[in-house]
This record gives sequence, C-alpha cells and structure tokens, in this order.
Amino acid sequence: MKILILGINGFIGNSLAGRILGETDWDVYGMDIRDDKLEKCRGNERFHFVEGDICINREWIEYHVKKCDVVVPLVAIATPMTYVREPLRVFELDFEANLKIVRDCVRYGKRLVFPSTSEVYGMSPDKEFDEDESPLVVGPIQKQRWIYSASKQLLDRVIWAYGFQEALQFTLFRPFNWIGPKLDDLTVLPEKEGSSRVVTQFISSLIHGLPIQLVDGGTQRRCFTSIDDGIDCLIKILKNEENRCDGQIFNIGNPKNELTIKELAHRLRGIFLKHSSHDPSSQVSDIVETSSGTFYGNGYQDIDRRVPSIRKAREILGWEPRIDVDTALRLTVEYYLDTKAKID
Ligand code: UDP
Repeated sequence: MKILILGINGFIGNSLAGRILGETDWDVYGMDIRDDKLEKCRGNERFHFVEGDICINREWIEYHVKKCDVVVPLVAIATPMTYVREPLRVFELDFEANLKIVRDCVRYGKRLVFPSTSEVYGMSPDKEFDEDESPLVVGPIQKQRWIYSASKQLLDRVIWAYGFQEALQFTLFRPFNWIGPKLDDLTVLPEKEGSSRVVTQFISSLIHGLPIQLVDGGTQRRCFTSIDDGIDCLIKILKNEENRCDGQIFNIGNPKNELTIKELAHRLRGIFLKHSSHDPSSQVSDIVETSSGTFYGNGYQDIDRRVPSIRKAREILGWEPRIDVDTALRLTVEYYLDTKAKID
C-alpha cells in the first residue's frame, strides 16, 4: 500500500509515519513545511518526503494522490487561540485548502482517511459523544472560537456527501485531546502564551517558572489520550480489514483519562517536580486563575466536558486505549525535559 500523508511532520503525522515504516511494508509519501520531527523516518527506503506547502504545491499533491492508494491530509490549525485571533486563516487552511484535497480523492477514486475533531460535538449535552447520534452544538457567530468546529463539521458533511453521491471511499476519525512527545513546539512559548494546547502550555510555564493559568477556574474537563493509543487505532483504520471502516466515523479517545484542567495542572506540576532535571532552588510555578476573556479574548467560549463513546472503535476495530493518564502525562513531560536544552 502507498500512503500519502500531508502534514507529515506534525504531531500525528510524524508518529503515524514512524509506526507505519516500523510495523508494515507500506510506502509513505509525505509533504510538510518542516521536517524536524522526522528523524525516525529518514533513511528508510520506503519513506519519500518533500518540503512544501499544501496551499502552493498543488501539482505535487495531485500527482501523488494519483500515485497513492490512501490519502491522509493532516494539515490544519488546531489551537483555540488561533481560532479566536485568526478565524479566517483557520477557515482557509482547515476548510478551503483541505477541500481541494478531498476533491482530488474523489476525482482519482482514492481512499481518504480524514481527521475530523472532537470539537465538532461542541457543547453537545450528551454525557458521552456518539459519532452517529450526538447533536453537534456550537455557539453564536460572534464567538469565533467555533469557526474551527464549524469548518470541520462542514468538511465532514461534504466528505460524507461525496461518499453518498459519488462513492468516495472514506473514514473520518475524531481525536480527543491526544498528548505525547512532540505535541507542540515549545520554542515559541512563553512569548506566544496560549498559542499551544493546554498540556504544552502548562509544561512551558513549568519550565520557565511562570504561573500556570487556569482559565475560568479550570473546572472544565478533558479526556487526555496517549498518542500511542491513537496511532494504534489509526493503523487499524488504515488496514481497513474487510472494508469495515468505509463510510464510518470513529471517536479516538480514552474516556477513563478524564481530568479537570485544575487537576491537570497539579499532576503536571507534580511530575515536573519529581523529574531528575528539576533544580530545587529554581522558581516553582504557581497555579493561578484567570478569565477566558483575559486569556483568549471575547470570541472564546469553552466546552465543559468532552467524553468520547468508543463503542464503535471497540466493536468494529477491536481497539481499546491502554495508556492511563498519568503515564501519558509523564511521557510528555519527560520528552520536553529531556530536550530542554533545545528549548532554553
Ligand atoms: N486552558 C487553560 N489554560 C491554558 C490553556 C488552556 O486553562 O493556559 C484551558 C482551555 O480554556 C480549555 C482547556 O484548557 O478549557 C483545553 O484547552 P486546549 O488548548 O488543550 O484545547 P481544547 O481541548 O479546548 O480543544
């Protein structure tokens, strides 16, 4: 099998490519604007990489969609601060640029494995979000945070409609707060506070001895999922035994790994203080409270709970997440502390 991964240097892309090359005999073709996370792939004769931008290098993409069997377009902005500050950029990249790739898959009859997002459920009242039943609930237009959710939701609907009307072979997957090594680039923090996801934001604050900020008290909850469990599930989706994943949407998350953001802050600080590289004489981050308006601006609105139902992934794929939240957090912190020299 030949797999085209766009955004291959990203958090999901580099990990997926590494596992494919290590565990299967598939060929991987990848494009990204950077290549600094691909050290595990480099040198493998089944790995083919080109540096490029999906908005510019259209010919390369079209040629490789034609050449490959499965397309996995992972290029997207997925940080809430950007939804608030640059909503048009989110729409242009996450929706418009990706729509062209979806249409390439339709044109050349290629299988598409596309990242939807747990954000599409928005403020859904369901206790566990079900791919085929839960309502998708977003806030008013002036709360531009929802442009990401709405862009992704519309693309989910377009992909589904291409499946319905033009026989596009597709699978959608919805990651629930995946974490692990290489999650975000800490070198841009702390100057660009809030520009990464919460786990890396907190780790950056700990490394720099700056306060950890709990938005609106940190009572909101997330289910943190190890990237390794997420990739296990993605490999099963790519294998697509008996075409069982065709036309399906899968939540990929660990419902047992639920923490409030306040609990997250305390656990990360505990792991950080126990790490061998911690200097007891250094400034330890306080955990403080802030408002969402101060931290993100008025266009923000939060999601209180986000718990996946993983019944479908269990039943159709036989997948079960195995890594508990403390292990997943520890592996993430250790990665950043072990590469700390590069951050300072
Ligand atoms: N959050 C926080 N402090 C921060 C960054 C984020 O309290 O420094 C909160 C944010 O308001 C949200 C949660 O942490 O409720 C998760 O944020 P993340 O950026 O990981 O994205 P989300 O899970 O909302 O997509």
